[in-house]
Amino acid sequence: MSSPALSPAPSPGQSPALGRTPPAREAGRKDPTLLHAHATMGSMLAHGVAPSPANYLIWYSYHSDATPGLRSAMDGRLAAAAAAGQRLTAACMEELHAQFFAAEREAGTLQEIATRLEGVVTEAVGLVQDAREDALRYGGTLNQASGRLAGEPQSLGALLRRLIAETLEVSRRSEAAARNLAETSRKTRELQSELAEARHLATTDPLTGLANRRQLDHALQEEAAAQKPFALLMVDLDHFKAVNDSHGHPAGDLVLRHVAGLLAEMTGAEALAARFGGEEFAVILPIGGLREVLAIAERLRAGIGASAIAIGPAGQRISVTASLGVAMAGRGEAPARLIERADAALYEAKRGGRNRVCSDPPLPKPESVWN
Ligand code: GH3
Ligand code: MG
Ligand code: MG
Repeated sequence: MSSPALSPAPSPGQSPALGRTPPAREAGRKDPTLLHAHATMGSMLAHGVAPSPANYLIWYSYHSDATPGLRSAMDGRLAAAAAAGQRLTAACMEELHAQFFAAEREAGTLQEIATRLEGVVTEAVGLVQDAREDALRYGGTLNQASGRLAGEPQSLGALLRRLIAETLEVSRRSEAAARNLAETSRKTRELQSELAEARHLATTDPLTGLANRRQLDHALQEEAAAQKPFALLMVDLDHFKAVNDSHGHPAGDLVLRHVAGLLAEMTGAEALAARFGGEEFAVILPIGGLREVLAIAERLRAGIGASAIAIGPAGQRISVTASLGVAMAGRGEAPARLIERADAALYEAKRGGRNRVCSDPPLPKPESVWN
């Protein structure tokens, strides 16, 4: 139980008894940030959660209701823990963090690499500046020397010695600068490839190599902003659970990879094929004609159904079918709404018996020749 001074503000998932009014509540009432922060600290104490930044982020987002879906997921876990007379485990908090804040973590990695890259570039600029200053200083020495040579020929020996020493020093420093620049450019190349790798990981589904949900969402936003016609296809494997149950999860993974390969291959470079999640894929087609889109969807359906997928070294092969939902993007339509419509069409294909394509809008029936 928390101490009175740190009692959390009343919030879902906590008993009202925890919400006694502490002095900070007054300030919190005026400033929602303070109120959420206060509630966060209270909850972390009340639930015995380790005071890590990740846990703070989770609880703060819970109280401020800033992360869609987090509140209900947390409430479910809190209720389950309470029913079992237990506290939230560290593993449970890690799962929540991975589920709701993975994007932040990856963004953090990218940010960290970008900052390091910036550091290396600053270092390189510094080296170039040093070399420039060296050259200027050397030029100044030469100028001075030529002035003295004109006025005092007797000190020629001393001047020459100074010029030689200066030349040696500049050449030593140039060599060091060249070595440093080479090292800096090696570091830059290394960081650039780290950055490319991190970008790839952040936007690719590791099992299938297709675009992941994040890249899909990003592409949908871009398509919508470009105000050009396009279509969204949702592809869901039929009775896929049975594939896992009969042949094992690794065989299921092979099927997912195979279907992903087919989607990428059959939709071409202009399209974006992505893994939407589980055994569901999505394809963005930059095509505005419903008939053309439906023809492609039909080819995909037939292609998936026709392939015999090798699932083991013994040469065993299995087949799967897929149901497809197609939605033609409306002008200015929000991506979430487009996904909803493609999903509804997919649901219709499932309800209609699976292994078929449905669309929103539906293809108009040809007029009867008798009318
Ligand atoms: P429906 O025709 O209604 O779509 O039936 P379904 O069995 O395909 O759908 P359901 O949602 O019941 O099951 C989806 C299955 O997909 C369950 C889950 O284990 C499996 N699955 C999700 N992701 C993966 C994965 O990465 N690898 C494997 N092997 N299976 C996965
Ligand atoms: Mg399925
Ligand atoms: Mg599914």
